[in-house]
Amino acid sequence: MFGKVLIANRGEIALRIHRACQEMGVRTVAVHSTADANAMHVRLADESVCIGPPPARDSYLNVPAILSAAAITGADAIHPGYGFLSENAEFAEIVEAHGIAFIGPSPSHIRMMGDKIEAKRTMARLGVPLVPGSDGEVTSVEEAEATARRIGFPVLIKAAAGGGGRGMKVARRVEEVGEAYRVARAEAKAAFGNDAVYMEKYLDRPRHIELQVLADTYGNVVHFGERDCSLQRRHQKLVEEAGSPALDAAARDALGARVTKALAEIGYRNAGTLEFLWQDGQFAFIEMNTRLQVEHPVTEMVCGIDLVREQVRIAAGQKLGYGQEEVRFDGHAIECRITAEDPDTFMPTPGRVHAYHAPGGLGVRVDSALYAGYSVPPHYDSLVAKLVVHGTTRPQALARLKRALDEFVIDGISTTLPLHRRIAEDPEFAAGDYTIHWLERFVARGAA
Ligand code: ADP
Repeated sequence: MFGKVLIANRGEIALRIHRACQEMGVRTVAVHSTADANAMHVRLADESVCIGPPPARDSYLNVPAILSAAAITGADAIHPGYGFLSENAEFAEIVEAHGIAFIGPSPSHIRMMGDKIEAKRTMARLGVPLVPGSDGEVTSVEEAEATARRIGFPVLIKAAAGGGGRGMKVARRVEEVGEAYRVARAEAKAAFGNDAVYMEKYLDRPRHIELQVLADTYGNVVHFGERDCSLQRRHQKLVEEAGSPALDAAARDALGARVTKALAEIGYRNAGTLEFLWQDGQFAFIEMNTRLQVEHPVTEMVCGIDLVREQVRIAAGQKLGYGQEEVRFDGHAIECRITAEDPDTFMPTPGRVHAYHAPGGLGVRVDSALYAGYSVPPHYDSLVAKLVVHGTTRPQALARLKRALDEFVIDGISTTLPLHRRIAEDPEFAAGDYTIHWLERFVARGAA
């Protein structure tokens, strides 16, 4: 086992990783920008190193500074968390070239899945069903129009290097294809430095259902069931559940068997999530994330497993030590992503938190780096807390969610807590009756 893990991240996920390491008797090194000198992840870590000024490109994305911090502190592994450098294959390569373990998949798999065209090709080859679309990259308006006619409207033009819902444009008629194509390309170029785009049929009422997997370096692959992440705004997840209100155990098992077989075939290792759209009883693969996900806690609550601990164990060369039949699904879990944003306009609301009270009690978990007196800096992602509840049934989890949301106090800054309270009270949400388009309309109704 490692002696010391450097956590190349900040906020709640840095704390999350620290906690898992601490319980394993592994020391931790926090890295931080000057804006985060007083952050909770810095306070709790065994050691900390300042790696640069506030902008992420100078600190949390500053590879030489992070490697120097690992060298100075003698860290033997780096956990990248999510975001920042977590899906940067070159970073993983450099870390390994310095004799430090990267707690994640191999650089080649990060690269393969980071290119969504390559990812889809790979999954198709492995027999995983896809959303119908272009055969790889689309390189001209004419080709985009021809593809749209072939797959049928509406269509979605997507960035090959995409992430965070950016570089995605819908075209509903042939007249809209040219504009959507050009805008998607420009956005992709600006956001990812890569303007390659591809096309998919734009599904009108799918759910977003994803599957959590873990693989060790001995060819053992196990899945931990599905998460339903259909509640999204601008293609970004706000609320997630495990399991999906729409899926039964047989559908989950069938998908799980197919996916674990596919990943074993390519020799995948560590944690990963395969994302699917689910409509009319059919799964269609859209992408794979080669890292820990923000919403991983709902899976942990239902399966009673510590996914970060497993990631660290796998990276240290340990065997999973259990098979698929030992994975149990117990009850239901729901997560709310609480952000420092205005609950109506979604404008970021950084600033000082005057009072902070997190809910507790049976089946309630809060992953947050907030404390009273903390100032949320304006430089980073606006996620400030994840409220996760677990119940033996979905109605019990929902009752617990409402109760916990009522107890939650974050004073001094606006947050999306009021929006989450509204969602939790909604009868359609209570019925589990929603698709990826539901929340957008719900938010619009609230604003009207
Ligand atoms: P990103 O990597 O930017 O998050 P994804 O491919 O994971 O992009 O898609 C993000 C979200 O966009 C999905 O969860 C879904 O809500 C929506 N989406 C993606 N592809 C389609 C599609 N073909 N039809 C309808 N919605 C889609």
